[in-house]
Amino acid sequence: MKGPVAAETQGISDSEARYRALVAATSDVVYRMGADWSDIRELGSGDYLSDTKRPSRNWMPQDIHPLDQQMVKDAINEAIRDKKTYALEHRIMLTNGSLGWISSKAVPILNQQGELMEWFGAATDITPRKRMEQALQEARDEAQQHERLYETITSNTPDLIYVFNLDYTFHYANTALLNMWGKTWDEAIGKNLLANGYEPWHAEMHEREIDHIVATKEVVRGEVSFPHATLGRRVYDYILTPVINAQGQVVSVAGTTRDISDIKENERRKGDFISMVSHELKTPLTSATSYVQVAQKRAAEGGDNTTAAMLDRANKQHTKMTRMINGFLNVSRLESGKLQIDPQRFDLADLVADVQEEAESSFATHPIVFDVCPEVFLNADKEKIEQVFNNLISNAVKYSPAGTPINIACQLKDDLLQVSVKDAGPGIHADELPLLFDRYYRVKEVETKQISGFGIGLYLCAEIVKRHGGQIWAESEPGRGSIFHFSLPIAQ
Ligand code: ADP
Repeated sequence: MKGPVAAETQGISDSEARYRALVAATSDVVYRMGADWSDIRELGSGDYLSDTKRPSRNWMPQDIHPLDQQMVKDAINEAIRDKKTYALEHRIMLTNGSLGWISSKAVPILNQQGELMEWFGAATDITPRKRMEQALQEARDEAQQHERLYETITSNTPDLIYVFNLDYTFHYANTALLNMWGKTWDEAIGKNLLANGYEPWHAEMHEREIDHIVATKEVVRGEVSFPHATLGRRVYDYILTPVINAQGQVVSVAGTTRDISDIKENERRKGDFISMVSHELKTPLTSATSYVQVAQKRAAEGGDNTTAAMLDRANKQHTKMTRMINGFLNVSRLESGKLQIDPQRFDLADLVADVQEEAESSFATHPIVFDVCPEVFLNADKEKIEQVFNNLISNAVKYSPAGTPINIACQLKDDLLQVSVKDAGPGIHADELPLLFDRYYRVKEVETKQISGFGIGLYLCAEIVKRHGGQIWAESEPGRGSIFHFSLPIAQ
């Protein structure tokens, strides 16, 4: 072929070749559509859609996701109506049968009369981006759901929940705390304790606690009294906990605070009641004891040994009752801060002699063996330390079988006197050992539970020893008896 026709044909085939080269070079899908989009004339490249070299009318059900077909049709109709560029992101069916996404754009080709001839389009695979967006959205939804969950929990509890930044400002405060302050979120968040109405000593105390938590990563627990916006002064129990990041650093301090005013008030009432009952019981008991003692003396003098022995037993029961009542009175004195420690300098030998005499007259059921004591002086409340000895010995007697020995030893360890009371009783489980000294605590073992008691003896011993700067602890194993130890500083 020669001449202009041949030249034009050559031109067309050149541009056709360039078009093919472009299609081959792109990773996009390149397509040509008929004027009304009913048939696809050519679809090239892109390995994610089925290739249609020949015209096909089946492209919509074959390639477009069923749920997006209507949207695609609407966008096409709009583009045809306006003879404007068609642009849409939609789901497709990939050659491997799974769901994908494309961003498709087609421009209309018009003839000289402005009529639509066909459309030239290109579509980019945006499946990875869409999947990422979807994962991001899911993560966002999940985070929001968590936030809603925590918000529901924290805004519906009467407890105060908050988070401090390390500069002591509030990062978070729940509804109960905002109500207590009588402030809104915007008024309170980002402000420090003073700005939120805390008294200076109180703000200072929490700031030092935050410093301590940052330095040690330890949890801090305390009790504090604070004025509530509507309820007046209340007592609160609070726990401050470090919030630690992935690098192990403390980034903030989270806190929860509980109003324990009612619990405290109930405890106080209970304490007052116990104290009142104990006082009321003590007066008739004291007079009954003195009558029994006089009667016992007379019976003995009159040679009525049987009655004298019975009255002696009655006297011992009175002593037991007096001890219990004194125990309760001491607990209530302790709780109301009225338990006085009156230190005096005395010889340990004198104290041990008194304890030995008391033990021998009170406990005939067990051999009580006192080891030789070191010669040492104490500067302590003699009566209260004697009470500690007596309590430990009476527990040893109470909890071990009759006839088994009880050993009392006193040793010097550096500047401390260490006293030990050892029995051959049932022993105590390791997990109970730290709890023995709690108020009203009684071991749950059947053997010991059957023996009557109120769980206050060891609590009192512990408080007395602690107030002397000493320590008290127990060493025991089930079936191997127990040793109760306490230590006291000796007088210089
Ligand atoms: P109480 O004896 O009145 O219950 P305590 O405070 O003296 O109260 O003792 C607390 C608990 O410790 C007792 O209930 C008992 O279970 C246990 N316990 C105390 N001493 C001994 C001991 N020597 N051997 C075994 N258990 C003991």
